[in-house]
Amino acid sequence: MTRRVSIFGATGSIGQNTIDLIARDPGRFDVVALTGGQNIARLAEDAKRLKAELAVTADPARLDDLRAALAGTGIEVAAGQAALIEAATRPADWIMSAIVGVAGLAPGLKALEQGTTLALANKESLVTAGPLLMATAARHGARILPVDSEHSAIFQALVGEDIAAVERIVITASGGAFRDWPLEKLAQASVAEASSHPNWDMGQRITIDSASMFNKALEVIETKEFFGVSPGQIEVLVHPESLVHALVGFRDGALMAHVGPSDMRHAIGYALNWPDRVDLPVERLDLARIGQLNFRSPDPARYPALDLAQQVMRQGGLAGAVFNGAKERALDAFIAGHIGFTDMAGIVARVLDKLTSQSGLVNDQITLDNVARLDHLARKGVDAEIAMRG
Ligand code: NAD
Ligand code: MG
Repeated sequence: MTRRVSIFGATGSIGQNTIDLIARDPGRFDVVALTGGQNIARLAEDAKRLKAELAVTADPARLDDLRAALAGTGIEVAAGQAALIEAATRPADWIMSAIVGVAGLAPGLKALEQGTTLALANKESLVTAGPLLMATAARHGARILPVDSEHSAIFQALVGEDIAAVERIVITASGGAFRDWPLEKLAQASVAEASSHPNWDMGQRITIDSASMFNKALEVIETKEFFGVSPGQIEVLVHPESLVHALVGFRDGALMAHVGPSDMRHAIGYALNWPDRVDLPVERLDLARIGQLNFRSPDPARYPALDLAQQVMRQGGLAGAVFNGAKERALDAFIAGHIGFTDMAGIVARVLDKLTSQSGLVNDQITLDNVARLDHLARKGVDAEIAMRG
């Protein structure tokens, strides 16, 4: 039987890896919707190749381009936020959530409301609205399958286990582009330097977030929200080889490690075929050739984002929405050349402090509207911080 699948963020790094797997096995899948942003040519080409029913661009100004690119194909086209939400209501068995940023939250929630299985690459959904996402899935009997490599690894290590027997969860971090740079040099790091990752090939934003470890900070929060463990049970280890993706420690002292190549098609393929395992086109590791795996504790002075994650988890509520919104805006400012690499963490910390100390603000109920409100306030807070610096 074929499975009906949609891909949100189809033109991005995760989206393209998902398409690679689906295109290798076209008889097994019916593609419902593909969504993208500015890359209309890529979106149209993949919609044709995969015989999608619908193609959506997030940008309303690009609707005519998309229509022209798909003229005569019979593929439906649409554009804008409402169209993205509508696409998430189209009956499907499996939806890949691979939009980058908080923009991925609303379509993912809509998919869960239909009872659709959500393969979740968009970690920002769990960071900004974890309790809402998990409750929506439970209410509609929908399943969330983690796609972030660390969380897929944890998920796999927990098969057949009781979460109550888990003592700790260790997620690994490559250390990013600057792991071996002298600390004093970090302030001068350029956007191009921050955009190259030692082990993984990913979108630009997550690659820069890996260099600053904002990505790992998001992933620590993601771990808490998805697996329901307490902040004190989550550890981060720098592991330069990026081959051990996560370890789960049990109360009897056992550590179950997940080891695999740094290729997102493993985690995507696991979620795509779950609960089965199928042949995947990823490298088979030759551990004898690799010889050694290294681990060390992250230096808090190099990676201040990790402490911010602890603060966010202690605060709870909408603090994650503030943290993520401020981080996204600070990252925009770094990419635009308005602030330096190391300025990002300081600015996010100040906005987080300001907004979490205002009474009640982050203690409001976690709803889509409140996430959007706090996200907006956080972005405005970052702009004000940058303006103050002159
Ligand atoms: P990317 O930048 O390569 O692609 C992002 C996709 O989202 C594109 O299709 C783009 O058109 C779309 N998009 C961007 N802004 C949008 C908006 N406002 N509305 C609708 N669509 C929009 O990003 P990526 O690296 O593929 O990452 C996607 C998600 O997966 C992120 O949440 C990231 O943290 C997560 N993730 C990525 C990797 C990886 O290997 N790339 C690994 C783990 C987790
Ligand atoms: Mg990850």
